[in-house]
Amino acid sequence: LNAGYLSEIALAAQSICGTPFNLMVNSGLAIELETTDPQHTGGVGLYRTEFPFIIRSRFPTEQEQIELYRRVLESCPDKPVIMRTLDVGGDKALPYFSISEENPFLGWRGIRLTLDHPEIFLVQVRAMLKANLALNNLHILLPMISDLAEVDECLRLINQASFEVSEEFAIEQPKPKVGVMIEVPSIMYQLPELARKVDFCSIGTNDLTQYLLAVDRNNPRVANLYDAMHPAVLRALNQLSQQAKGLQFPISVCGELAGDPGGVMLLAAMGYSNFSMNSSNLAKIKWLLRRVEMAELALLLPEVLACESARQVRLCTQRFLEQKQ
Ligand code: PEP
Ligand code: MG
Repeated sequence: LNAGYLSEIALAAQSICGTPFNLMVNSGLAIELETTDPQHTGGVGLYRTEFPFIIRSRFPTEQEQIELYRRVLESCPDKPVIMRTLDVGGDKALPYFSISEENPFLGWRGIRLTLDHPEIFLVQVRAMLKANLALNNLHILLPMISDLAEVDECLRLINQASFEVSEEFAIEQPKPKVGVMIEVPSIMYQLPELARKVDFCSIGTNDLTQYLLAVDRNNPRVANLYDAMHPAVLRALNQLSQQAKGLQFPISVCGELAGDPGGVMLLAAMGYSNFSMNSSNLAKIKWLLRRVEMAELALLLPEVLACESARQVRLCTQRFLEQKQ
């Protein structure tokens, strides 16, 4: 890592012209949070809860989950911590819950699995809510939503969990904000309805790329076709930004594209300002954003959106980035 990047880690995340950005971190292990000074971030933009489930030989108990989530929420006091409900299936298998399918990425994964097993969802949400008592920085994020009925069902279960926790502790607890991952193309076209139901959304560019391009994100045979810089993906992201803005629907980007220097330039050009990334990318991305003018990004965007291939897009963004190094 360039030492110059780290020298600016404590400075404001804003462009030369003063446009502010909110840079958050992605995490899956409590240890990762301990290595990032929360002072230098806007909070945890994506806490992937699946790792503690994957490393065990059985489902973690509600008490185990409470302790774990409490540590994560405490590691970032007074800043939002966005916890995603269990997102297994697809490439993430639980050793003690076998799933055998021909098309795992199109099958029983994420919210589909936990809504078919509401007891898993309820235990997890109750644990999150109990961990959040007196801290109040929890946000809940729902993965793999492809249909509005799934959102309604999740909200119903979250209400139920909330009611149960309030009864048990005999206190009225504040409602956490609830958001939806935008990672299945269908839900991109239902943003107005989504905005009426939940508080925010977060784009998972890893899966959104996979599903828009019909390219398995882990298959080396088609790895050359998997590219979040594909012009179609970029156009989709641009449309989402504009639509969310029109709806005043808070939107962030938590897929790998947000932690990529060229990617974050394009996302900022599209009007995104909330980014969540692996902590290893944070200093570099902040350093870069501090060196751009929104006016130059406004010139870069139409050039990139007119490209015919991801290769052309990369040439444009590389040329742009070279002037910043
Ligand atoms: C994504 O799909 O972009 C994402 C952030 O989630 P994950 O990589 O955990 O599927
Ligand atoms: Mg995903």
